[in-house]
Amino acid sequence: MTRPPFADRIVEAVFFDVGGPIYDDENFVSAVLAALDDLRAEQGREPVDWASFRAVYDAVRIAQSGSLRRALAAEFLGDERRRDELHERTRHHWQHPAGSLYADVLPCLRELHGQVRVGVLANQEATVVDALRRDGLAPFIDVWGVSALVGFEKPEPALFEWALKQAGTTPATTVHVGNRLDTDVRPARRLGLGTVWVLRGEAAPEPTTEQLAEPDVAVPDLRGLPRLLLGDGRRQRAEAERP
Ligand SMILES: [Mg+2]
Repeated sequence: MTRPPFADRIVEAVFFDVGGPIYDDENFVSAVLAALDDLRAEQGREPVDWASFRAVYDAVRIAQSGSLRRALAAEFLGDERRRDELHERTRHHWQHPAGSLYADVLPCLRELHGQVRVGVLANQEATVVDALRRDGLAPFIDVWGVSALVGFEKPEPALFEWALKQAGTTPATTVHVGNRLDTDVRPARRLGLGTVWVLRGEAAPEPTTEQLAEPDVAVPDLRGLPRLLLGDGRRQRAEAERP
């Protein structure tokens, strides 16, 4: 029988990536497509062909490495050096509209809150805070690790370290939940955090055995997450009752 993934870890804090685990990554896809179309219109070019866009996007998803913006700038703007310009233009279009919150997020955060410190740890614009408030998640979030507010981006260790400091926990007692290997699972694991890979959005569409071996556990959604992280509660109680 295989051991549960976090059987040896007392989990005191859980950090969530936002795009993928919380909001649909198609919000980012819409923004980056709009940005590409703006920039191409300025060059007198036609809008991006959807199938060609999807091919580049899926190649980055399959690889779980490399810069999506650089690949898109090279393919659709003719110069990978325009990635920063694309990034800047994407920011203006990037929103998380009502209805793009995954249905399993609120029940998951509600169950975790109070038992562990809950944080977001994400490369996002400051406006994501308004979306999370609008959707009723703010009362369940203790640590707001939003890159635009903190000044560091994943995969930099600094954003993880900042969030750990805010949570008052160590890597050994903290788990990061994200949907990318390159910006979530690998940097978190390097620092010693537990890792959950959520297989939606920018995650690999058909993960390989090697990819699946990188996180502590891979899950299709957040439904079983509280139980996975907290066990049945006995471990936490045993720890609390220890003299
Ligand atoms: Mg993500």
